[in-house]
This record gives sequence, C-alpha cells and structure tokens, in this order.
Amino acid sequence: RTVYVNGEYLPEDQAKVSIFDRGFLMADGVYEVTSVLDGKLIAFDGHAERLTRSMNELDMRAPATTEELLEIHRELVRLNDIKDGLIYLQVTRGSDGDRDFAFPDPETTAPSLVLFTQSKPGLANNPAARDGIRVISIEDIRWGRRDIKTVQLLYPSMGKMMAKKAGVEDAWMVEEGFVTEGTSNNAYIVKDGKIVTRETSNDILHGITRKAVLELAREAQMQVEERNFTIEEAQQADEAFVTSASAFVTPVVEIDGAKIGSGTPGKLAPRLREIYLEEMRKTAI
Ligand code: PLP
Repeated sequence: RTVYVNGEYLPEDQAKVSIFDRGFLMADGVYEVTSVLDGKLIAFDGHAERLTRSMNELDMRAPATTEELLEIHRELVRLNDIKDGLIYLQVTRGSDGDRDFAFPDPETTAPSLVLFTQSKPGLANNPAARDGIRVISIEDIRWGRRDIKTVQLLYPSMGKMMAKKAGVEDAWMVEEGFVTEGTSNNAYIVKDGKIVTRETSNDILHGITRKAVLELAREAQMQVEERNFTIEEAQQADEAFVTSASAFVTPVVEIDGAKIGSGTPGKLAPRLREIYLEEMRKTAI
C-alpha cells in the first residue's frame, strides 16, 4: 500500500513521523474519514470543511489547502486502485523536538499530514445494512469538545470493546440520561414516521453524513425533530439507526437487549439509506 506523509507518497513501511510529534505524545491531532465508492470520493467538501473547523478550534496550522488535499486523496485512490473503501487523513501539531504541555511556536513547528487508504470491497453492501446492528448503552465520559474530531479515541475504543464483550456490535453513549451518539456514528430513532436525533452542540460530532441525511429526509417530506432522547424512548421507537461516513445509514435493531420494532430493520431507515447512497454516488468527485 502506498501512503502519504508530509509531501511524499511512500510504501507504508517507509513512512515515518517523529516520536516527539504531539499527535503521538498527547493525542494533539485531528482526523477525517472519507469513503470511496466506485473510485470516487463521497462528500469530500463536507469533510474538508469540518477538518478546517477542527484545526481552527485547536489553533492548528493547516498543512495543505483543500485543493491540495483533494489532489492527495485522488492520487492515493489511483495509486492503490481503490474501488470501494475509506481514506483516513490525520493532521497532528507536529513537534519542536521536545515534550511540553504548551503548544510549540506555530511559526517554527510544521504540522504533520498523513493519509492512507483502506480497501473495503462491497462497502455499500455491508451485511449490517441488511440485518441491522445491536447496541448497548454506556455512560458518555468523553471530554466536552466532541464537536472537534480529535484522535483522542480511547474511550470510544473502550466502548467498542464493551459492546464486543456484551456480544453486540456497538455502543450508544448516554450523558445526563440522554443519548449523545454512537462510538463512531450519530444516533437516531423513528417514531410514528418522525426522525428524532440530538441537535448539534459541543456534545456530539457534527456528522457530515448526519447533515446530508437530514437534508435528504426533509426533501423527501419526512419529518425531522432535533432533540434529546433517552434509551427508554429509543427502546420503544419503531426504528433506530446510525449514520457515519463508513456505515452510511445502518439500522439498529436492538438496544440493551430490547428489540426495536419487530427486531428487524423497518422501512424508513433502509429507504433513507437508498436515498442517501443514490445522492452521494451522483455527487461523488
Ligand atoms: N460521531 C462520532 C463520535 C464519530 O466518530 C463519527 C464518525 O467517525 C460520527 C459521529 C459520524 O460522522 P460522519 O458522518 O462525519 O462520519
């Protein structure tokens, strides 16, 4: 696999970043995951925009322009012959060769930019889309700026492990009694035809898929309500689902052992997935 690191395309075993890089020492970095379908990038502009926002919120210098990032994404898709898959992009603050809590001088410290591809044949036909996934609820103990897409992912990783241990696929996190989001996706329920999802704030990641899905749902005359909901309300919903760049729209069929609806994917989430994928394939670049 060919990867990109700070201006160079290299075999993956030759790509190197300093051990003093603050991404490594302090999780001082941000990232994006963009999906590729039929060799084209899905929702690239949205991911580039959010990356800029994440970097700005952390006073991080941009290592490249959006146009350059697009070029790098496309070159990696070409070099690795990716049909369906993901592109991972990470920007870390870099290093001045020492370890200090205070940020190093941005004038003399270059951020590190790393990208690599993950080939996922049949990404859009994942069995989870047909069968749905099961989730458990766990307490959300992450930091208070979840709107910034940082590489500080230890708790979401632990959440996935808790789900695995419980024999299910994922976990929904709960704070002060209300669902925030999934470990790596946004969470939704459907009741009487109405889609309910938490509104955006510092408490959750502003999903690029979330934004597109809600827009498309409204265009399709579906009702959308952005408000908090509890696990109990979710367990009594007609349907539930998650969205992310890699899962698109994926039904949730069980929460903490309680079946949602009949315990199989309903009508709305699969339809929304179809609408979303159709639009994304149309606008892919
Ligand atoms: N919420 C969290 C915590 C995530 O990690 C992700 C994606 O990785 C999402 C939501 C979904 O965001 P997007 O649709 O932009 O992939």
